Amino acid sequence: MTCLRYANLLLIASCLIVTASGPGLSPAAPADAEEKYGYDDTPMLPGSPWRVHDRNRPQPEMITPGQAPGEPPSDAIVLFDGKDLSQWEGAGGEAIEDGAINVLKTKGLATKRAFGDCQLHLEWATPEKADGSPMNWGNSGIFFQGQYELQIIESHDIRIYADGIAGAIYGQFPPLVNPTRKPGQWQSFDVVFTAPRLEGEKVVAPARMTVLWNGVLVQYHQEVLGSTLHKTFPTYRSPAATGPLVIQQHNSAVRLRNIWIRPLDLK
Ligand code: MG
Repeated sequence: MTCLRYANLLLIASCLIVTASGPGLSPAAPADAEEKYGYDDTPMLPGSPWRVHDRNRPQPEMITPGQAPGEPPSDAIVLFDGKDLSQWEGAGGEAIEDGAINVLKTKGLATKRAFGDCQLHLEWATPEKADGSPMNWGNSGIFFQGQYELQIIESHDIRIYADGIAGAIYGQFPPLVNPTRKPGQWQSFDVVFTAPRLEGEKVVAPARMTVLWNGVLVQYHQEVLGSTLHKTFPTYRSPAATGPLVIQQHNSAVRLRNIWIRPLDLK
């Protein structure tokens, strides 16, 4: 009953906030946004410095989401917006065709910045027709920290070995399902990458990836066994806290667009 009454009070409070936000007042920062609603007499959460419903617990930072799904939120670093390659090394303006990067016209791309934990959004399309060996149709890939590859390759009409199709952590783990679109169609990856945890040069916790491919979960908090290698077992060769995001150029005209990243500090 108390909870219901409190819920009603909150509803009234939020109505007041909505009412208060008129012209000249930002809806993102209502006049009484600093008011602390909550409790200071509730039990402590186990292993936490905070109480249940703690009124003093810090609020998450408020950011503005993109207008449409897939658009960058306000705190993202935009790595490619259709026109500007200044965040990257490995290509000039000639690599941009109709607002997309033609990977074949690059030497491979590497971000100028280094990233550790991060959230990445990237859209990609393989060529409509094979532009080389069928086994290499649409081959590219995203190397987190320049070392751990999330595979991009045509996986609708051709399927190579399971741990090498799109959405695979290459050479290690196939995607949970294959939600691919047809060759030439735009597809999306949304990735949460957790960097390996190190003590000195020793890996004390592996890198991990969670991947949504076209909005479908294909990797869930998957441990990465080590740096990506071909035809041999992966090992952590030169683990680091951060590294550049690298796009593989593998002799196929893969296109990329709408790339943004949010550096994270995951516990
Ligand atoms: Mg590849």
